[in-house]
Amino acid sequence: MSPQKQPTNSSWRTLHQLSVRTMRSPTLLSPLGLISCTLVLMLPLFGSCHPAPSPEQPRLVFTNHISSLKVGFNWRNVSCHLCKAVFTILDIALLSDTNEERVARAVGEACIRFHLADERVCREITELFRDDFIRALEQSLLWPSEACALLVGPSCGKFDMYAPWNITLPNVPKPPVTPPSPPKSGSPQSRVLFLTDIHWDQEYVAGSAADCKDPLCCRKDSGFPSWRRREAGYWGTYSKCDLPLWTVENLLENAARDGPWDWVYWTGDIPAHNVWSQTRKQQLSELTIISRLIHKHLGPNVTVYPAVGNHESTPVNSFPPPFVHGNRSCAWLYDTMAEEWAPWLPEQALKTLRYGGFYTVEIQPGLRLVSLNMNFCARENFWLMVNSTDPANQLQWLVHILQASEDNGEKVHIIGHIPPGLCLGSWSWNYYHIVNRYESTVTGQFFGHTHMDEFQMFYDEATMTRPLGVAFIAPSVTTYVNLNPGFRVYYVDGNYKGSSRLVLDHETYILNLTEVNHSPGAPSSPVQNPKWTLLYRATEAYGLTSLFPSDYDRMMQAFISDDHVFQKFWYLRHKGHVSEPCKETCKTSLLCFLRSGRYDELEQCDLLNGFGGNLARAARKTLC
Ligand SMILES: [Zn+2]
Ligand SMILES: [Zn+2]
Repeated sequence: MSPQKQPTNSSWRTLHQLSVRTMRSPTLLSPLGLISCTLVLMLPLFGSCHPAPSPEQPRLVFTNHISSLKVGFNWRNVSCHLCKAVFTILDIALLSDTNEERVARAVGEACIRFHLADERVCREITELFRDDFIRALEQSLLWPSEACALLVGPSCGKFDMYAPWNITLPNVPKPPVTPPSPPKSGSPQSRVLFLTDIHWDQEYVAGSAADCKDPLCCRKDSGFPSWRRREAGYWGTYSKCDLPLWTVENLLENAARDGPWDWVYWTGDIPAHNVWSQTRKQQLSELTIISRLIHKHLGPNVTVYPAVGNHESTPVNSFPPPFVHGNRSCAWLYDTMAEEWAPWLPEQALKTLRYGGFYTVEIQPGLRLVSLNMNFCARENFWLMVNSTDPANQLQWLVHILQASEDNGEKVHIIGHIPPGLCLGSWSWNYYHIVNRYESTVTGQFFGHTHMDEFQMFYDEATMTRPLGVAFIAPSVTTYVNLNPGFRVYYVDGNYKGSSRLVLDHETYILNLTEVNHSPGAPSSPVQNPKWTLLYRATEAYGLTSLFPSDYDRMMQAFISDDHVFQKFWYLRHKGHVSEPCKETCKTSLLCFLRSGRYDELEQCDLLNGFGGNLARAARKTLC
């Protein structure tokens, strides 16, 4: 295992400035243009707090800049055959070589051997673009037919990185649907602790600057606040800051006291948002420390079921599917996860975890869990440019599990990090289709990633009017951005014979930073051992009897008919810390988001409301 090389902060800044300049003036010469286009391809790496570029943009910029290269040869004059041969060699070199130096030499050699240009030009071009172009190539891994369709023309291949695809459903008719009814009063309920998006910042420093130029503040390098500027609080800060370890530990102490827990779901994003300076070694040490801390505080008798977040890897969002082998694969991460999570998961689950970061396990007789690796659905995972068709066969595997559960009369909960409605179109469509087919089996869907307390609805595909599922999106542990720290508790029907395993209620607990960063008697010092307080209980807050899909659908009607209910949701969505109310466009787009458990529905919202793609982009942004 060797830590991956990262570009330095300052070189990134310079290149970013270059890229901004060249994009504004397309007449600037090719070297800058090429650097800019490699950066466009790489943006999701660094821009974890910005909307991802739309898929069309990078292609366009890329093609324009490539065709405007004035370095002595033109890809358009190269035969299709030759182009594919070059890229085949390139791809093989890029796949097997971890050494950038060797990859650079391979590119130079291929260039010379195929007489693409004279030797001097070949050497110069590799020298010039080595660092960034090769890194982008390494990471975008353009396949020969796609690269050559792009460079030589459409006659040479197809450039459809995210082409639609379908999983196969077994030839078993869907069983008739019985609408859920509330359980008899006094029926047993399971209390499930739900943790997501911890984002522990090792370099958090209380008293440092809460506002800074970097994407993450309140840390060692943020500097100290000048006069009257805000500073990082002891327990956390309302700013673009993550959490110190003592706040995470305090959360676990409080959660342990609030037990006993029947089990725990933990849906990822352990490291902080310093995505420009992370190494594999650090990511693994944070994974290990937090996993052990959870184990220590909750005790050996509570089973924790984790899911993989998009921040677990470095570069952020980089999750090569199993077709990538060797040092570039995800083995460095999944192997450590399997080691650290072995106290909670059986060997069979650890096996698929090591393979693709997902697993299934029986929680109790009659209830099964599926933990999905949602990084295989994310546009920001640039490895999917190579092949985005059901990466790791995860959805086909899900269908297999669900069919077996249906046959055995078992209910299934699905957990994952990124909500399915924010996934690539085809992945999202297929997932929605699966949930439709197995609506009587999938009785809970639990996600995180947006850091907000929200949800997304699933309707019947035929009419898109009958609600049949809710993907719960729980609020983050971290404050990032401007939030109180928090966690969620779900109340699930069961465990008794014939229990529905549906979510009956949920609670959200927060650490109110306004109160705990300053002791009442001594405003300059924080409260010792603060309590995490109940922010709200869903049934009480919204006047509901249960939280079935039909209840959520009615609640959304209330959001429209009674603005007070919606503004309450808006306040709770931000864990009790928000300054502006949400009106007009904000409200329309949020309602659209809540309705759209499928990505193309979100795009429809954009179309219908004239948002011009902003809604889908904003919702998809890899903030978390
Ligand atoms: Zn997150
Ligand atoms: Zn995330």
